[in-house]
Amino acid sequence: MSDQDNCVFCKIVRGEIPATKVFEDDEVLAFLDIKPIAPVHVLLIPKKHIASLAQVNETDAPLLGKMLALVPKLATAQGADDGFRVIVNAGRVGQQEVPHLHIHIVGGSDPLGPMLAR
Ligand code: AMP
Repeated sequence: MSDQDNCVFCKIVRGEIPATKVFEDDEVLAFLDIKPIAPVHVLLIPKKHIASLAQVNETDAPLLGKMLALVPKLATAQGADDGFRVIVNAGRVGQQEVPHLHIHIVGGSDPLGPMLAR
């Protein structure tokens, strides 16, 4: 069984488990986080299985650039029109839980609080 077979976000891409989708095209998908940490909490993923930001290389740059450029549109559409935060957890130290690259887009509370506890 491949990583993609087991991957929860690949299952969302394939329609095997439900998600509240807020944007989709042929390369990327955005959906609401199932356990939101802020009033706005969207996950933006590539449809192709990339395990982590820790594993990308220069060939992924166009896709990653496209994803980042989509963020303000998605944030605004969800109501985070006065700022937001993007978080990408990567690997063990980053405490990444789902091994499929994803950008968290969080906002909607004012202010969001410190990036990390000091
Ligand atoms: P991370 O710690 O960066 O890997 O974050 C994984 C995120 O995925 C968490 O915020 C989870 O709440 C979220 N998540 C896990 N499973 C699902 C799901 N089936 N639908 C939506 N969000 C999910």
